[in-house]
Amino acid sequence: MTGNIEIKSLLFNELQTKLQGLAQPSYRAKQIMDWLYEKRADGFEQMSDLPQALRAQLAENFRIDKLGVARVLGSRDTTLKFLFRLSDGNLIESVLIPASPALYGQKSDRRTACVSTQVGCAYGCKFCASGLDGFSRNLRANEIVDQIIAIESATGEKIDNVVFMGMGEPLANFDNVMRAIRILNAPWGLGIGARHITVSTSGLAPQIRRLADEPLQIRLAISLHGATDEVRNQIMPINRRYNLETLLSACDYYIARKKQRLTFEYILIADVNDTDDQAHLLAAHARRLAAKVNLIPYNTVQGLPWSRPSHNRQEKFLSILHRHAIPATLRREKGGDIDAACGQLRLQTKREEFATA
Ligand code: SAH
Ligand code: SF4
Repeated sequence: MTGNIEIKSLLFNELQTKLQGLAQPSYRAKQIMDWLYEKRADGFEQMSDLPQALRAQLAENFRIDKLGVARVLGSRDTTLKFLFRLSDGNLIESVLIPASPALYGQKSDRRTACVSTQVGCAYGCKFCASGLDGFSRNLRANEIVDQIIAIESATGEKIDNVVFMGMGEPLANFDNVMRAIRILNAPWGLGIGARHITVSTSGLAPQIRRLADEPLQIRLAISLHGATDEVRNQIMPINRRYNLETLLSACDYYIARKKQRLTFEYILIADVNDTDDQAHLLAAHARRLAAKVNLIPYNTVQGLPWSRPSHNRQEKFLSILHRHAIPATLRREKGGDIDAACGQLRLQTKREEFATA
C-alpha cells in the first residue's frame, strides 16, 4: 500500500513532526532526507539502513512520486528539452540550458534548469504557447523539485542554477513555488544557492510585494515586453488588472527590500514593441529600478501571428539601451531550433496525441 503524503513536498521540520506522530525518533528525518536528495532513492524499500518496520510504516503513510519522461529533444547547441508526464497524466516541460551567460547574469559554466510551475497558464499572453490551451492546475512542490531531480538523473549533470521560466505563472502558485524553492535551497535538499534561483513573473503586483517580504535572496525577473500601457495591454491581459505604474511601484518596493538586482525580460516582436520610442521608455524604467534588461528575439509559435524583428532592428533597440547606459543583453537564441520557448513542445505533443487518437 502507498500512503498519500508526497514525502518530497515536506520541509525538514514537517517530516520530523510526522515521524514523531509515528513514534519515531526525530534523527530519522535526516536519514530519510539523505535517501531522497543525496542518494536519490525512489522507493522506501531502498532505504537499507532503516529498520524494515519503519520502511513499511513509511510506505503506509507516504509516497514518493516520480516524473515520467515522455520525450526528450536535444538541440544543436546541446540545450535539452524534456517533456514530463505527471502522475495524473498531465504534461509539463523543462529545459536544461548548459550555459547562460547573457541570459540571467550568471557565469557561463553554470547548468541551468528552466522549470514549469503550472499545467498551462491562465494569463493568456498573446505571444505565448503556454496559455494557448488554458489553465489546468497548479504544480505541487514535489512536482517542481522533481523536474530538477529528473533532469539530473537523465543527464548525470548537476544543476546549479534554476529559473522559473517554464510553463505557468510562478507567482500565481505562490505557496507551492516558495515551498519548492525552500527545498531546492536547503542544505538537506538540493543545496542550490538562493542567488542562483530566479523567479519570473508577467507582473502580479501584489505577489511581487509578498515576495519582497520573504527573507530568501532569490532573483526576480519581470516579463515587461512593453514600455507603455498601450503596448502591454495589446499583448498581456494582466496589464489591465495591474497596469505599468502599479507594476513598477511594486518593483520599487521589491528592490527597497532586496540586495538582488531586478531583471526586465523584453521579447522583441516585430512592429509591436520594437520601436525606438519603446526602447527610450524602457531605458527610463530600467534606470528608475536599477534593473538590467534581457532582450529576447521572439520565438515563433505555430498558429500565432507574431514574428521577430530583423537583426538590424534588434541591434538598434539594444544600442538605444546602451546609449542610456542601461546594462542590457540581446539573447542570441539557444534552443530556438527545438522550440525552446515555454509551452511549445507540450502543445505539439498534445496535438499529435489528438491526431493519432
Ligand atoms: N509566467 C512567467 C514565467 C514563464 S514565461 C512570465 O511570464 O514571466 C517565461 C518567459 O518566456 C517570459 O518572459 C515569457 O514572456 C517568455 N516567452 C513566452 N513565449 C515566448 C516566445 N514565443 N518567445 C520568446 N519568449 C517567450
Ligand atoms: Fe503565462 Fe508567462 Fe506565458 Fe504569459 S508569458 S501566458 S504569464 S507563461
